[in-house]
Amino acid sequence: MVTKTPVRCKHCGRESLLVSQSLGLCSDCIRHYFDEVLPIIKQVHQKARRAFSLPSYQPRADDGKTCHMCINECSISEGGVSYCGLRTNEDGKLTGATANLAKVSWYYDPLPTNCVADWVCPAGTGAGYPDFAYRQGIEHGYKNLAVFYQACSFDCIFCQNWHYRQLVSSQAWVEASKLAEAVDDHTACICFFGGDPTPQLPHAIYASRLALKKSQGRILRICWETNGSMHPALLKPIAELSLKSGGCIKFDLKAWSEEIHIALCGVSNKRTLDNFRFLAGYTKKRASPPLLVASTLLVPGYVDREEVAGIAAFISSLDPDIPYSLLAFHPDFFMRDLPATSRRQAAECLDAAKAAGLSRVKLGNIQLLHN
Ligand code: SF4
Ligand code: SF4
Ligand SMILES: [Zn+2]
Repeated sequence: MVTKTPVRCKHCGRESLLVSQSLGLCSDCIRHYFDEVLPIIKQVHQKARRAFSLPSYQPRADDGKTCHMCINECSISEGGVSYCGLRTNEDGKLTGATANLAKVSWYYDPLPTNCVADWVCPAGTGAGYPDFAYRQGIEHGYKNLAVFYQACSFDCIFCQNWHYRQLVSSQAWVEASKLAEAVDDHTACICFFGGDPTPQLPHAIYASRLALKKSQGRILRICWETNGSMHPALLKPIAELSLKSGGCIKFDLKAWSEEIHIALCGVSNKRTLDNFRFLAGYTKKRASPPLLVASTLLVPGYVDREEVAGIAAFISSLDPDIPYSLLAFHPDFFMRDLPATSRRQAAECLDAAKAAGLSRVKLGNIQLLHN
């Protein structure tokens, strides 16, 4: 367990072990005095982004070139760089990531993987056998192609995969066909994650189509793990790919309060919630295996019972059978000074999720919990 001294909230002066040193604000002040503490929040994110030469804010040039791929709607001036670091404006043209070229890497994970949906998906349970799973139980002998997109549309200061930031500008572009070639006869599923697949979704969609074409006649599930901030026009193609292939869409719902979300992730959660609501309209088209799965990382001091209760009520109002994973946090990136999730916080959040009427709730990463 991390030993630390209490940190004083820069706004109310309250001292707590659950105030992060880098953020310097308690959750009450973020929720109730947001406008007053916003300058402090902005400074923290600026610092987290400057360390990787990423722009401090979403570019908003009046005469810029606009990318509509995600909530940020960057308008990039001549020679400028987008929030995700992937796009520039060269001679009045938007250049960078395309449907054919992406900053991406991949590896194979033997099934069952440590996937956020493994407790409900075909790979971990055999759900959907024989149409969508190779076995009636765990798919031993098969593997997942884990596809890591090296950029993100958010700026989470607790990021558990923050190393990708070091590669946004340096890594070479990879063609979609190269990625599709990585699918072999023992690949049962592809999971697009990162960073986040959002800023490079057209590439993931194109590579999925190529991979499915060469895998005709056998099971190849297409799955996504995302912060859900994509343009709504991209939802239908990803939903159709997962629906037909037996895959699932895993949405990370990071906080219920928009203020907490902006403090932790640098960006609003409005688009994510709207997109999740839209995708919930697909869940009855294929009840098993579930198409849509939600997850929330239990960040101590910030993503507490109140946040989880709000998220769970929202999910339940759409479809109480949508699976919801609560994940224990381990200290990382700019929140290395926080402790891991406590058993008490986990139990409170689990109770809140169940009390909202959700039928399938699970606590993941329980090995990280502390007393
Ligand atoms: S990628 Fe999809 S099918 Fe494979 S383990 Fe994860 S959720 Fe299951
Ligand atoms: S994908 Fe990148 S360039 Fe496009 S709007 Fe989002 S952050 Fe900006
Ligand atoms: Zn405070």
